[in-house]
Amino acid sequence: MRAELIAVGTELLLGQIANTNAQFLSQRLAALGINVYFHTVVGDNDERLLFVTRQAAERSDLVIFTGGLGPTQDDLTKETVAAHLGLPLVTDEEAMRRIAAFFERRGIKMSENNRKQALVIEGCTVFPNDRGMAPGMALTRDGTTYVLLPGPPSELNPMFDRYVFPFLSRLLPARQVFHSRVLRFFGIGESALEERLLDLIEQQTNPTIAPYAKDFEVTLRITARADSVEAAEQLIAPVEAQIRSRVGEYIYGEGETQLHEVFVQALRRQQVTVACAESCTGGALSALITSVPGSSAAFRGGIVCYSNEVKQKLLGIPAEVLAQDGAVSESVARLLAEHVRLSCDATVGIALTGVAGPDPLEGKPVGLVYLGIAVQGLPVLVKQLNLAGHREAIIGRAAKAAMFHTLQRLKER
Ligand code: ATP
Repeated sequence: MRAELIAVGTELLLGQIANTNAQFLSQRLAALGINVYFHTVVGDNDERLLFVTRQAAERSDLVIFTGGLGPTQDDLTKETVAAHLGLPLVTDEEAMRRIAAFFERRGIKMSENNRKQALVIEGCTVFPNDRGMAPGMALTRDGTTYVLLPGPPSELNPMFDRYVFPFLSRLLPARQVFHSRVLRFFGIGESALEERLLDLIEQQTNPTIAPYAKDFEVTLRITARADSVEAAEQLIAPVEAQIRSRVGEYIYGEGETQLHEVFVQALRRQQVTVACAESCTGGALSALITSVPGSSAAFRGGIVCYSNEVKQKLLGIPAEVLAQDGAVSESVARLLAEHVRLSCDATVGIALTGVAGPDPLEGKPVGLVYLGIAVQGLPVLVKQLNLAGHREAIIGRAAKAAMFHTLQRLKER
């Protein structure tokens, strides 16, 4: 099935809002195995909308419109699609009842143009709007299915998941499931990962393998299409095993979880507590840890030791070491990690000191970060990281690297 999306709204063309509906719908259609070939954005103009509708009808089996279902003059999607199909608009009684009830509940008089929202194209399937007034609709003519959905994501998203997804599943030739396994990586970039798996990625059609980078982490989604979840799992298993054998050392988790969540869960499971001394990350690591509910069982506290004075006064770093080696040094990372561990009475002390940029510091390059990990009973480990990116990225990557390497270090206890 070839699909395309048409987003209607002049504010999209003016750049006042981004077309997030296209992103949402493309992701959902991909999950259904429906190929999306075009995204079109068109203003609130009936001639141009008619033009793109005709074009879409010629080349697509499924055309999904978003926006322009509202009560005002410039909302003209259903009028235009109805004109294209040569069909009249009729009132959907159920939608009319919902709209009237909405005004009654609020004690407001319904204006005449609100009746327009209950109009649907004759003969269509109506999708109720559980979060707003304008219903969605779908209609198939001459081999093309037209789906019209409201613009606001708060209305469109639940309508799609509740009514449109099952509607589209029924249109697909055979009922098949799409099942995915998500592997989560840290410490390897998207392109490096792709390179290591290139032959697998190029060979695969079922399952498909798709790497994706977000929030300084890389995710790999393995998706199989089969008659059942079990059958899909069987297709995924050998591919996953190959991936693990090649790049397993970078995998820190599976599914819809993030590194800081995995980190806190692991600390809790191992009954380990941590304390952080953060210079270049300014508290970003502590913030990530404490964003996880239940982190209080594992997080003792942290010190943002941004200035040398704080490193000396609160964490006991000797002035001579700071003068001789500089704040961004292996020795300072080592001392910070051990001191914060002891002063906060934690099992693990983590220290981060580095150059977040944009300018070099102490003659040291942007992206150079020393990570100190002091685990009770083990010698302090210091890792030199050379991180890429702008200031925000270096801070984000440093905080995540600290958690990833601490998890690795805890395995050596
Ligand atoms: P309403 O009944 O609210 O008028 P509508 O179906 O007529 O809904 P529009 O008037 O086109 O939709 O858009 C309403 C709002 O929905 C926009 O102001 C915007 O906030 C959001 N919106 C519309 N289209 C998109 C889109 N493609 N992506 C993200 N948001 C959108």
